[in-house]
Amino acid sequence: MRTRPRAESRRLTGAQPRAGIRSRQATRSAGTRSAGTRSAGILSAGIGSVGTRAGGFRGLVAVLALAAVASGCAGGGDGRTTRPAPGQQPKKAPPPVAAPARALYGYAARLRAAHQARVAAAGHWGLRKVPLTPPAPPARKPEITTRKGFEVDDHEELGLPPVFTRVPTEDRVVFLTIDDGAEKDPAFLRMMSELKIPYTAFLSDYLIKDDYGYFKEMQDRGAALNNHTLHHPYLPALSYARQKHEICGMQEVIRKRYGTRPALFRPPFGNYDQDTLRAAKSCGVRYAPLWDEEVFVDHWEYREGDRDLHPGDIVLSHFRGRGEWKGTMPDLVRRFLDKVTAKGYAVARLEDYL
Ligand SMILES: [Zn+2]
Repeated sequence: MRTRPRAESRRLTGAQPRAGIRSRQATRSAGTRSAGTRSAGILSAGIGSVGTRAGGFRGLVAVLALAAVASGCAGGGDGRTTRPAPGQQPKKAPPPVAAPARALYGYAARLRAAHQARVAAAGHWGLRKVPLTPPAPPARKPEITTRKGFEVDDHEELGLPPVFTRVPTEDRVVFLTIDDGAEKDPAFLRMMSELKIPYTAFLSDYLIKDDYGYFKEMQDRGAALNNHTLHHPYLPALSYARQKHEICGMQEVIRKRYGTRPALFRPPFGNYDQDTLRAAKSCGVRYAPLWDEEVFVDHWEYREGDRDLHPGDIVLSHFRGRGEWKGTMPDLVRRFLDKVTAKGYAVARLEDYL
């Protein structure tokens, strides 16, 4: 078995995934494999309990041995079979363990390769630490309710989309949301793909219409494209009909260009009234996420008085470049990730929790 690139890991891996997270990650992936499910379960427990980067694969060897023993035990046992004396080979061929073992080694190799790729990408993009790996998406989605003080009249009675700034979860994750769409930096798309950082975009048509293709590529790379109105107006100043045109018109643009009608809508500037949410609901919007923190290229702003991150926080930023800010999109992502990782959070996909 090859050894891990220790020096490289050490340089950038202050932020190794914690044992618990790794264990859950392993369980998720194991759940999607067809071969060796039972053994993969043992593997995830093994990695979780061993937990260190050097020990993980020593642990794996022990676990493989354990899996082989377990398989062996499952074979006999009617009591009448003659047991071979110690040192003697059993007459019966042992049950095949080669296939599950191969699957385990293949799985371990993929885990290792994925981590090495993250370490390399973190170095390439100038991050202080390797971003943490988020846990598997929750099997039971949290119940999303409107934040206290953010309700409109008859919010619940009318079944209007909840307005919230945080997802109720104990997972140590935050969610990155990026708005508007003015800056279209190809380096940003590469950076997010190479680092495997999920994010959710809220797009305004008047800013994206000169290059719908950029956001098609964003979608192809796994980002969800959501609704931020046609022209980014201050919605409460508009009639219901005009609000509906702004919101439902953007639903149509996204459906036509990108094939899906978004379930998420964010009102420009975070301003809305009952008409806004009624209009949004009428064209398929189910959630109206706002944000708890906003990250700029040179500073952070906080909604809460403790000026800190919390599990499930939604973080806002914008597609802006040097034209408006003192930095590029990759500069912005660096500022975001360096704090998030240093505080012990992973970035998860908002849609996975809704
Ligand atoms: Zn905006």
